[in-house]
Amino acid sequence: MKALRRFTVRAHLPQPLAALERLSINLRWSWDKPTQDLFQTIDPELWKLVGADPVAMLGHVSPERLEELAHDEHFVARLAALAADLDDYLSRPLWYQQLAQVNDADSGAAPVLPNGIAYFSMEFGVAEVLPNYSGGLGILAGDHLKSASDLGLPLIAVGLHYRSGYFRQSLTADGWQHENYPLLDPQGLPLRLLTDAGGETVLVSLVLPDSAELFARVWIAQVGRIPLLLLDSDIPENDHQLRSVTDRLYGGDQEHRIRQELLAGIGGVRAIRAFTQIEGLAAPEVFHMNEGHAGFLGAERIRELIEAGLDFDTALTVVRSSTVFTTHTPVPAGIDRFPVDMVARYFGADPGGSSSRLLPGVPVERILAFGAEDDPTKFNMAHMGLRLAQRANGVSLLHGRVSREMFNNLWPGFDPAEVPIGSITNGVHAPTWAAPQWLELGRELLGTQDLSSLQEPETWGRLHEVDPGHLWWIRSQLREALVHDVRDRVRRSWLERGAADAELKWIATAFDPNVLTIGFARRVPTYKRLTLMLRDPERLRRLLLDPERPVQLIVAGKSHPADEGGKALIQQVVRFADQADVRHRIAFLPDYDMSMARTLYHGCDVWLNNPLRPLEACGTSGMKSALNGGLNLSIRDGWWDEWYDGENGWEIPTADGLADENRRDDLEAAALYDLLERAVAPKFYDRDERGVPTRWVEMVRHTLQVLGPKVLASRMVQDYTERYYLPAARALRQSIEPGVETEGPFGAARELALYRQKVHKAWPNVRVVEVDSYGLPDTPLLGSELTLTARVCLEDLRPDEVTVQAVLGRVDTGDALVNPVTIPMTHSGKTDAGEDLFTASTPLPVTGPVGYTVRVLPHHRLLAGDNELGLVTLAG
Ligand SMILES: *Cc1c(COP(=O)(O)O)cnc(C)c1O
Repeated sequence: MKALRRFTVRAHLPQPLAALERLSINLRWSWDKPTQDLFQTIDPELWKLVGADPVAMLGHVSPERLEELAHDEHFVARLAALAADLDDYLSRPLWYQQLAQVNDADSGAAPVLPNGIAYFSMEFGVAEVLPNYSGGLGILAGDHLKSASDLGLPLIAVGLHYRSGYFRQSLTADGWQHENYPLLDPQGLPLRLLTDAGGETVLVSLVLPDSAELFARVWIAQVGRIPLLLLDSDIPENDHQLRSVTDRLYGGDQEHRIRQELLAGIGGVRAIRAFTQIEGLAAPEVFHMNEGHAGFLGAERIRELIEAGLDFDTALTVVRSSTVFTTHTPVPAGIDRFPVDMVARYFGADPGGSSSRLLPGVPVERILAFGAEDDPTKFNMAHMGLRLAQRANGVSLLHGRVSREMFNNLWPGFDPAEVPIGSITNGVHAPTWAAPQWLELGRELLGTQDLSSLQEPETWGRLHEVDPGHLWWIRSQLREALVHDVRDRVRRSWLERGAADAELKWIATAFDPNVLTIGFARRVPTYKRLTLMLRDPERLRRLLLDPERPVQLIVAGKSHPADEGGKALIQQVVRFADQADVRHRIAFLPDYDMSMARTLYHGCDVWLNNPLRPLEACGTSGMKSALNGGLNLSIRDGWWDEWYDGENGWEIPTADGLADENRRDDLEAAALYDLLERAVAPKFYDRDERGVPTRWVEMVRHTLQVLGPKVLASRMVQDYTERYYLPAARALRQSIEPGVETEGPFGAARELALYRQKVHKAWPNVRVVEVDSYGLPDTPLLGSELTLTARVCLEDLRPDEVTVQAVLGRVDTGDALVNPVTIPMTHSGKTDAGEDLFTASTPLPVTGPVGYTVRVLPHHRLLAGDNELGLVTLAG
């Protein structure tokens, strides 16, 4: 008989072991090896069985064993030390606390530190026991939280709790992906329920069309210092259909998805309000959207401010000042969009009214305007993110560039280079992803347990002292552990696909701890080109079976359940790997998750990445490999475009100008085979008298030294803090203050809102009437002084409400300015006709064909930049 529902009943912990509860619930254990070791000691066999999950461990261990450990002085002492270490980790001043003491280099003033940052994401990959992620976006969010914890940031994260998380993948006999959705029992997870002072479960609720109401409870996962709030609609207060709003990550149709995003965004803000009030915490000042999915949070914050007495535009100004939006999508097709009608229905007004039923006081039209795009029938979540956030960024230098082009139409009149979208290159959490052997070596070299100096290049410089033989020994150990794990997984997969044990003897010797090992593991959207390696199957076969310099390939990845094309790619790899002559050298491992990923990053010598450039916004798996001395073999895309230096791996030349995709794949695959054959394998197998590939090891050392300090999530979170969170907090506090002319709280925001209205009204009539130049000799020389005077019609804007700029530089054959310099022009009077005069003098900055123009932009002290509003008027 099958049970309808399952839950976990835990044994009582004897008093001397009480701290085990705390250690199991705080997910810090997931990056703290000593804590993992302690749980393993409880029962090493059981530890394996429960998948290295402390909460499950405490749910399964026998009361007798616990009694025994309670009398084991050594165990109790270890437990006490680790509990003390956790308390210390949770309370000691860290980087963020020290920031308050460092005055700003320019202004000399103390920095404005936000007293809370809310971080929203649809997925969080914190640990494999909490399968709340599908791929890179979620893992990145998890690493963001862990590093925020390590740095002491007052961050609160918000997402959804999915009844089944993301699917588990298995293969059918003929290599087709099969999806399982195991139900997660929240009681068996490291979660606690948000309850009020009276112990009652806190519910947040949203009004839906047809007077339905969606309720959600709030689970809290504790990630070191960081609370992660997860909203869960699977409760009796909801009718059957609404219970399943949070059933799965990325499952269902658009109707399902918009409900998830409304819950995450609007419900998320409400959950934060309840949480901070109950815990006595400050309300967060900065709101960070990790991708546009939770963008409705801005609309909810506007509602709150309107309820507090602000008008819509002032509320929007305040929300914008304190919102940060990160885009991860390099192609328009990847953007989350809903039918406008659907959004209108959810935010709809009661008959005869104009204010939203879901967000009372907020005009529906204004909400719809946030998501407007070229197609009038679509509501674009990325556009909403950009319109609700004064600060936005992409996730690598290249992706920043791509994003500025992609969203250029929101800032018409500007060259892509001036579109106000910056970039912060992603990073990965070292204690989570680096093998314990490397962390141990680091602690030895530094002579301390404290690894907070990992961002300093000098720290990694210490590797200089280490004998190549020792580095090679670590790499070899990790490769060997991987080979054992691969054999286990290959065996389980064959059995699952219907093979009999007796036919699987070959697996015991499949894969070789001494063979050059290449990893390729990632989700399977088309652009990542899982099967590029199969472009010329015979050539791949020769590489795998080379008698002197063979390679072995480990492949893994999940395809989105609705993506039949992706499943066909997986099947192609599985069928190739099934062949008897190569199956000991290539395998597709089903069910890629964090624990498999770790073993792969630890053990692979080479990490292969061959996306269609520039579709990989950043990519992080190669960073995790690099942290373990893996060498990247990759198309110059995402982070690798930025940090490849010629010696830390290999670049697969891209043919990304080619229109013919087939030819592009042919060329890039051929380049890949050539590199493997002529550069990678020869170096790996070139050994000294001790059997050490010294040239290879020097590349490993170089990789660790140059990439180690850069690829860290702690570097990333510090960058976000300094370049986004602090400026956003400063902007918020400025907007809350009285204005120059408007008294009372929010006066400044009110002024900026009025200014925006005034500018938008005046702009169609703002003109550069004429530009005159003076002073140039007949034959201008580099450095000759040029004086420009512009007559400008400002409509009813004051001269100090705009910036007028001379733009000067070399011109191409079409007279377009190339990398020009901009020179501010000063107001120098008025003409009789009432036009304003602006002048500037400047030495000619470059030789060759030079041109100039003059332009007018809005200017206000509370704008993040003169380009923020997307308005510009050019001369002529
Ligand atoms: C790092 C990671 C990813 C992301 O890898 P990409 O290189 O960005 O594709 C996906 N899944 C898991 C389990 C990971 O650990």
